[in-house]
Amino acid sequence: MFDDVDLLVCGAGPVGCVVAERAASVLGWRVLVVDRRRHVAGNCHDPVHPSGVRVHRYGPHYFRTNDDALLRYLSRFTEWVPANYEVRSLVRGELLPFPINLTTLERFFGRPLDPTTAGELLDGVRTPVAEPVNSEEYVLGRVGRELYEAFYLGYTRKQWGLHPRDLDPGVCGRVPVRLDRDPRYVGHKHQVMPRDGFTALFGRMLRHRKIRVVLDCPFAEVRGLVRPRRATVYTGPVDEYFGHALGRLPYRSLEFEFVPHAAEFVQPCVQINYPNDFRFTRSVEVKHVTGQRHPHTVVCYETPAATGEPYYPVPRPANRELYARYEELARAETARRRVFFCGRLAQYRYFNTDEVIQEALRCFDTIRRTCTAPAPSPTVRAA
Ligand SMILES: Cc1cc2nc3c(=O)[nH]c(=O)nc-3n(C[C@H](O)[C@H](O)[C@H](O)COP(=O)(O)OP(=O)(O)OC[C@H]3O[C@@H](n4cnc5c(N)ncnc54)[C@H](O)[C@@H]3O)c2cc1C
Repeated sequence: MFDDVDLLVCGAGPVGCVVAERAASVLGWRVLVVDRRRHVAGNCHDPVHPSGVRVHRYGPHYFRTNDDALLRYLSRFTEWVPANYEVRSLVRGELLPFPINLTTLERFFGRPLDPTTAGELLDGVRTPVAEPVNSEEYVLGRVGRELYEAFYLGYTRKQWGLHPRDLDPGVCGRVPVRLDRDPRYVGHKHQVMPRDGFTALFGRMLRHRKIRVVLDCPFAEVRGLVRPRRATVYTGPVDEYFGHALGRLPYRSLEFEFVPHAAEFVQPCVQINYPNDFRFTRSVEVKHVTGQRHPHTVVCYETPAATGEPYYPVPRPANRELYARYEELARAETARRRVFFCGRLAQYRYFNTDEVIQEALRCFDTIRRTCTAPAPSPTVRAA
């Protein structure tokens, strides 16, 4: 029954769905998508909790992009609702805006400030570092020790199980520091959520007569069975594909606890960070941004873990080196067998959803350029 597959896709996350949709719609290829989970949309999966409230099963997904064309493409599969991603940090018993902005600085230092005096204040407390080589140096160079210890140090240690000085500068460097009162978590041009959720969005991509989806199906079950005529797109962990031949790539995992409440809202904003208290890092009431109207709400508490599902690649030099060696194997596999490695697990790199979709579109372009002639191998091997 799998004897006419042009493209085999491992993973029904954003990357798998986009590549499958493009291959079926643009090239008319027959696509088989397998996923070991029982749902599509990968980590963007957003089911409805038994209370009736939509939740984000694998942590909150705040969709944002500066790319108009990308938004236009996705708009074929969804309508959008505007979203207000506002985060506060519990510091010294107060919920202060995060990323740090003028209001945060005023409340933290207990005096009125304007952009000029706030800039001068930061100039006075920061520890200049010419070329920061880790996250600690990066943050000290930006905001100084007191703010670093209050907002970053504890959070980073909990999140990664590592000291900021053992992590790349970019880990803490992704978060801006603002000298105005902009309370938004990110500054992107478009900050929106799919009206019916991400699972519906990605599910619609796969609703195509040339696409077949098999869930609850590990790649290992079809790998030796299906020989696609054109190519394979693999979005699972790259080290797993090669049987961990060079060792395991480290990942940070998470545990999620969903707590329902018989109230419309219980938090003042979508996300509260706890840099200095509790085992969990953040509590998320995603209903603030999904646009759902419901008399009840659900708060998700997120606790980092060393083992479990792989969520975040751990960005430090040793891991990058190990990944580089896997990348060599992946390149050879692409050349030899037309297996394309794309996505956050396959490229061992944190991507936001818009960025990973851009990667998927690039991957599709490469496949289109290089794989339009059928592969020479037989379509099906004996099971
Ligand atoms: C906690 C957390 C919060 C995030 N928050 C945001 C956010 O706020 N905004 C944002 O834009 N992005 C966010 N992201 C990033 C977003 O989740 C990713 O960019 C996106 O999901 C990556 O898509 P993907 O297809 O590469 O991988 P995934 O979404 O992980 O999908 C991969 C799929 O492949 C399947 N798979 C893997 N291996 C196999 C195998 N061997 N056999 C069969 N199936 C397999 C998996 O089951 C999974 O369904 C967040 C990520 C995490 C972990």
